[in-house]
Amino acid sequence: MAGIRIEGLTKQFGVTRAVDEVSLDIADGDFLVLLGPSGCGKTTLLRMIAGLIQPSGGRVMLADRDITYLPPRDRDVAMVFQSYALYPHLSVERNIGFPLRAARRPKAEIARRVREVATQLELDGLLARRPRELSGGQRQRVALGRALVRDPRAFLMDEPLSNLDAKLRTATRTELTALHRRLGSTFIYVTHDQIEAMTMATRVALLDRGRLEQVGTPTEVYDTPASVFVAGFLGSPPMNLLPARASTRDGRIVVTADGADLPLWPGTTDPVELTLGLRPEHLRVVPAGAPAGPGEARLTGTVTGLENLGSEEVGWVSLGTADPGTGRPAAVAVRGPRPLGLAIGTPVTLTTTPEHVHLFGRESGRRLA
Ligand code: ATP
Repeated sequence: MAGIRIEGLTKQFGVTRAVDEVSLDIADGDFLVLLGPSGCGKTTLLRMIAGLIQPSGGRVMLADRDITYLPPRDRDVAMVFQSYALYPHLSVERNIGFPLRAARRPKAEIARRVREVATQLELDGLLARRPRELSGGQRQRVALGRALVRDPRAFLMDEPLSNLDAKLRTATRTELTALHRRLGSTFIYVTHDQIEAMTMATRVALLDRGRLEQVGTPTEVYDTPASVFVAGFLGSPPMNLLPARASTRDGRIVVTADGADLPLWPGTTDPVELTLGLRPEHLRVVPAGAPAGPGEARLTGTVTGLENLGSEEVGWVSLGTADPGTGRPAAVAVRGPRPLGLAIGTPVTLTTTPEHVHLFGRESGRRLA
């Protein structure tokens, strides 16, 4: 494999294990997004790949070469920082050409490469300007240009869009995806923003407390989350997670949650203590008293809140029973085209079908079905 291979990579800062034995294969041409909440170790992992942080254990291989202890400049990778780290006193042209000048490349080659990169990123007309004379989006492109000019094997990016406003961020997402397709090089991209991950990644790696929870395509991690953590991290609102029990009745497995019996779900009776996962968009509001369809499960509760998202609406439904974890009434979110037909304070029945049910072990948090 010619890409990047991470083997058991670990970083200990005093008592904090920032990255905990992460192993990951990143194929040539992948757009890999490292995704997770603040403090999960994304930046530390990226910086170890860049050579900016020395690992406490494990290896980084680039095209089957061990680069774990190679200085950053000798790795065939380029880093784009959140702050862009542009030189304020240098023109756009000199900022982009900086890595080639530092490497003492011939003048003619530097001029040619800078022109090529400027054209690629539509910075042609801005080459004489200083960073302060640029918009946030333009600065971001200059930072990208400075990485691009070296023609590296992989681009490492740490939240490069976080300083842009919402509209520009959306536009830049599309630009980055197009750039990745055009260059065909490997991108490793850190973010805590699931939309960025879902829209740009060819593969997503989810991290929690320094551990790798799951790696897969955006569709795989969304449709079949490997753990309660992944299920509860992705989606807006994220997957509803309810304590449930499995028992055998009349020779069939029944999952009971919130006092409601869900008919036979694929799965297992071992363990019997489960966490049941239901995506808000997979719950359907039905009129009270309507007969259940074949195989349908239903939950009943009271509407406690409504959120207008424009074309869609989110309803919050209190199930009336206490969540044993928190002691608070268990609540679920339901999401669908507006109007959902809900009114605050009124009873509601929600249904779902077996193919949309996710089951996790309560103790392990790992996916069962
Ligand atoms: P964010 O999204 O907030 O940037 P992150 O996922 O990138 O978070 P890291 O910056 O990699 O997380 O940090 C992971 C853990 O390591 C955190 O608990 C952090 O406090 C700790 N940490 C990071 N750098 C150091 C350091 N130089 N010294 C001590 N602890 C550190």
